[in-house]
Amino acid sequence: MPGGAPLLSKQSPGRGLERSQVARRPSGRLATWPAETTIVLGVIGDPVRHSLSPVLHNAALRELGLDWVYVAFPVPSGRGREAVSAMPDLGIRGLSVTMPHKAAAAAACHRLTPLAERLGVVNTVTNIAGSLVGDSTDGPGFLDSLEELGWRAEGKRCLVLGAGGSARAVVLSLAEAGAARVAVVARRQDEALSVSGLGGRAGLVSSVEAAEEAELIVNATPVGMTGADAEPRDELPLGLEAKRLGPGQLVADLIYAPAATPLLLAARSRGAKTCNGLGMLIHQAARQLRNWTGRDAPVEVMSAAVLRELRRRSGPRPRSERGRQILERDARAGAGPAASGPIAIPSSTSHTKLPKKLQ
Ligand code: NDP
Repeated sequence: MPGGAPLLSKQSPGRGLERSQVARRPSGRLATWPAETTIVLGVIGDPVRHSLSPVLHNAALRELGLDWVYVAFPVPSGRGREAVSAMPDLGIRGLSVTMPHKAAAAAACHRLTPLAERLGVVNTVTNIAGSLVGDSTDGPGFLDSLEELGWRAEGKRCLVLGAGGSARAVVLSLAEAGAARVAVVARRQDEALSVSGLGGRAGLVSSVEAAEEAELIVNATPVGMTGADAEPRDELPLGLEAKRLGPGQLVADLIYAPAATPLLLAARSRGAKTCNGLGMLIHQAARQLRNWTGRDAPVEVMSAAVLRELRRRSGPRPRSERGRQILERDARAGAGPAASGPIAIPSSTSHTKLPKKLQ
C-alpha cells in the first residue's frame, strides 16, 4: 500500500484493545452510551458542520464493534494549534483536520510522518500515549482510489489542474508512486512552480494543452463544485477544452458533489474513463482509521454509509419551480438538509468500489 505502514503496530494500543473497548456498542442492554470508557475521535474545521467524516468513521467504528465515537468539533480559524495540543489532556485518541487548520495542526504535533513533513500540513493526528503524530492521508487515499480501478501511477504521464492543498498532496503522491511526469497547471505560475517542485524530477509547470498527452488528468480546483461560484457551471477548469480528452485517459475530479462535474461529463462523452472524489474521501478516511485503531477499515461499509448520507442530503427532488426556489433559498441561508446544495449521484458516474446493491 502506498503511504507507509500504519502508525500503530500489531502490539500497539489500537490492536491490543482491552475488552471494554471491543465490546459492541450498546444495543439496548446497556443504559448509556457513550460511556466513560468510550474513546473519542473527531474532526476539527471551520466550518465543519457539513463534514461527512462523522458518517464515514462512525459507520466504520460500528462495523468494527469498537466502543469509540467520532464527533465534529467546530474550531474557529486561528485556534487549530491549541485544539490539537489539548488532545492528550482531553484524552482524544485521534483527530481529522480540515480547512483552515492543516498547517497549525502540523505545528502542534510532536512528530510528523515523512509525507506530512514534506507537505508541511497534516489531515490526521494520532495521540499515541500523549505523543501527537501528524500524517497526511489525502495523497495516498487518492492513489488507493485509483488502484481500486486498476490504475497505477508507475511510468504514467499525469496532469494536475490547480495548485492548492489537495494538488500538493496529489502531486507528491503521484511522483512518489513512480509517475514518469507530473505536470501542474494553475492560474498562478508561482504556485504552480512551487507545487511542481514536490514532483521532483517528474514535476514540471505546464499548460492545459498538455492534457492531450496525459494518461491521467486530475482536477484539484473547485471548478464544477456544487455551490462554488468559481466559473460558469458548464466550463472546464482553467479553460481546458473537451477536445483534449479521449480514450486511453483517466480523468479524475477530486470533487464528489455533484457526482458528475462538467469535466467528468465531457470526459465521458469523449470516451475517457472517469472517477470523482468520493473514492479519495473514503480512502483517506480509511487510512486515518488504520492510524488510530491499527485495524483495516471496512471500506465498503464506509462507502455505503456516505452514499446514503449524500442521498439524504440531496433530499426529495422539488416537483415545481417554486419548490426549487425554496430549496435554493434554504441552501443559501445554510438551513435544512439542502444547505450543502442539491447533490446528484448518478450511479454510473462514480467509479468508487461500491457494495453491489448500490452500483
Ligand atoms: P485550495 O483552496 O487549497 O486550492 C484550490 C486551487 O484551485 C488553487 O490552486 C486555486 O487557485 C484554484 N482555483 C480556485 N478557483 C479557481 C478557478 N475559478 N479557476 C482556476 N483555478 C481555481 O483547495 P483544495 O486543494 O483543498 O481543494 C480543491 C478541490 O478538491 C475542492 O473542490 C475540494 O472540495 C476538493 N477536495 C476533495 C477531497 C476529497 O477527499 N475528495 C479532499 C480535498 C479537496 P488560486 O490559488 O489562484 O486561488
